Amino acid sequence: MGKIALAIHGGCGVMAKLGLSEAEWEAARVDLGHALKAGWAVLSTGGSALDAVQASVVVLEDSPHFNAGYGAALNAAGEHELDASIMDGATLEAGAVTLVRRIRNPVKVARRVMKKGEVVLMGGHAADEFAKVEGLDVVEPDYFTTEKRVKALAAMKAHAAAGTAAAASESEKHGTVGAVALDSAGHLAAATSTGGYNNKPVGRIGDTPIVGAGTYARDGLCAVSGTGKGEFFIRYAVGHEVASRIGYLGETVEQAASTVIMEDLKPHAIGAGLVAVGADGTIATPYNTDGMFRGWVTPDGEFFVATHDVVFRIE
Ligand code: ASP
Repeated sequence: MGKIALAIHGGCGVMAKLGLSEAEWEAARVDLGHALKAGWAVLSTGGSALDAVQASVVVLEDSPHFNAGYGAALNAAGEHELDASIMDGATLEAGAVTLVRRIRNPVKVARRVMKKGEVVLMGGHAADEFAKVEGLDVVEPDYFTTEKRVKALAAMKAHAAAGTAAAASESEKHGTVGAVALDSAGHLAAATSTGGYNNKPVGRIGDTPIVGAGTYARDGLCAVSGTGKGEFFIRYAVGHEVASRIGYLGETVEQAASTVIMEDLKPHAIGAGLVAVGADGTIATPYNTDGMFRGWVTPDGEFFVATHDVVFRIE
């Protein structure tokens, strides 16, 4: 069996360390661990990178601790408009959905869009209807709402009224979930899912469903899933940029990922981070915020999760 690798993130919208109790940080780390285990169970039994990233992202979408699926951010109208995408590095096939309101696990319908193969990106009501036809779990829009996001929306509206939106904490602003994997056949895949940012304009579409920006995978180069102010990820075509630096400049995955986050994006003073895996299984997890919910598995099956600089090994 060839080398396998997996990395996940739960967004760079992480609070200052003292913003949550130790029990709350621990609860988020536990869910990161569950997401890693779901993806690793696929990879370690010879499954595909595509199935692995989907399995990890579904767990993160179902967790209230991250901004995707259950617990997603609210837009300016107090509603959820969710985005997700998935990409197969072997074939460059991809599927994405945007502005969906009823699909419990947006990453699953992104995968169905990809499988159908007619279009890459499907939006709004039509995508919700497509999910129903495909027999996926459809929920009432308020299923996604948690008290934490209601408070974050109120805080962002107060910041907006006071003209201090840029000074809001990263966790009040945004978040996303994602996963990247290398499977035993040498194939790469990436998937990302988000509620976008709190108080975003109605109808705003971020980088998450934009293939080449928030999500990208290409065998032989890398798989990338990003988190941060999506407008900049779109402008820099971040996922594709990381792959291009590796392909054209011969950079390592760590060099390419770090250059894009620290040199290209950091000067814009926006929170940004990503997880990437290279064709040889090397993992990079750069971020330019206080922290990023993240986790990875070493080739010999050791699991690690982190929110800030301290890394926890989990069983
Ligand atoms: N990238 C997401 C978006 O712009 C938000 C985030 O990751 O914080 O929709």
